[in-house]
Amino acid sequence: MPENSISQNQASRNVWVLAEYRDDELLEVTLEMLGDARQLANKLGSQVEVILPGVKTEGFVPQLGQFEADRVYQIEHPLLEHYSTDAYLKVAVELVQKHQPSIFILPGTPNGQDLASCLAARLRTPLVSDCVILKVDDKGQLEAVSPGYGDKIYIRIACSGQPLLITLRPGVVGVEKPKKGREPEVVKVAPELNSQDVRTRLVDYIPGDPRQIDLVEADRIVGGGRGVGGPEGFQLLEKVADLLGAAIGGTRVAVDNRWIPFERQIGQTGKTIAPKLYLTAGISGASHHLLGAKDSEVIIAINTDPNANIFKNAQLKVCADLHQVLPQLAAKLEKLIGEDK
Ligand SMILES: Cc1cc2nc3c(=O)[nH]c(=O)nc-3n(C[C@H](O)[C@H](O)[C@H](O)COP(=O)(O)OP(=O)(O)OC[C@H]3O[C@@H](n4cnc5c(N)ncnc54)[C@H](O)[C@@H]3O)c2cc1C
Repeated sequence: MPENSISQNQASRNVWVLAEYRDDELLEVTLEMLGDARQLANKLGSQVEVILPGVKTEGFVPQLGQFEADRVYQIEHPLLEHYSTDAYLKVAVELVQKHQPSIFILPGTPNGQDLASCLAARLRTPLVSDCVILKVDDKGQLEAVSPGYGDKIYIRIACSGQPLLITLRPGVVGVEKPKKGREPEVVKVAPELNSQDVRTRLVDYIPGDPRQIDLVEADRIVGGGRGVGGPEGFQLLEKVADLLGAAIGGTRVAVDNRWIPFERQIGQTGKTIAPKLYLTAGISGASHHLLGAKDSEVIIAINTDPNANIFKNAQLKVCADLHQVLPQLAAKLEKLIGEDK
């Protein structure tokens, strides 16, 4: 066994996951982390434990079981209802010091990244951020892969130290199928927290512009490619996106032409998306693009070429000029929205 191997440590070998949720739903990245945690725990001969802070969170426990959590630390306190660095950090530090997990995976979301970096500093423990692959080799050594230089390269990182903190990039590893039958043990934790411990307080949520939502998080996306023809064409897409409450994305061609910024690129060298609806217009469906869009639940494609590859992947195929279809679609949506009011 190598000196730094995780298995050799005296403390627990358990793999932890910080559950993140919004309203009544676990974020997909929570389920993605559980899939990775299960594989690591199997390799280490250990258990998967979930840290679930908040208020009235018991509703999440069955789903955490379906995604193979062995134990859930349900940490209930009014000051944990919304994320705050102070409250979450205090609770996490105490729990980690008490139970000594070997690996603690946190979501690569703004909150998860914030907590992970503070936790690493407070516990003086290593942190590997923005991982896209996690594995343990036969010697018990953890290897993480994270992208570098604007995703142009992938960096393999050999990890040692315990607890090892990892943040997982959302939307990359994918969600495993839920399994039946596992009921996690629930350990209720009542942390000692008071308002003096928490120096920042959530006042309000201000809804953002849906068009600007990070593509990884977006439920609906309207994407454009070369066929859109220019910035004026993208104004058509933006109108439809506004009516659908969708984010705007597109192909590398659209980015290279500066019709949309780079962070709006979908595909192998852009964002990996998993929306409920992906409406594409003037996109051929090149493999580099589809690699980032294959997890879309429903793809609607508008393209003038009946042989366009995108049609092989679309559930609804509209073989027509987008400049004719999109204004009609916008008018129809406006009418429907008007009738709904
Ligand atoms: C290493 C590498 C990485 C890459 N990474 C990415 C990536 O991350 N993301 C990405 O998108 N690409 C990526 N690419 C580029 C990719 O291979 C394709 O070139 C690109 O996706 C094509 O973009 P497009 O569909 O906009 O353009 P095209 O392939 O030119 O397709 C335009 C489509 O618009 C249709 N069209 C034209 N006019 C109309 C109209 N009026 N109405 C309706 N339809 C119309 C045409 O029939 C055509 O199908 C990468 C390439 C390489 C080599």
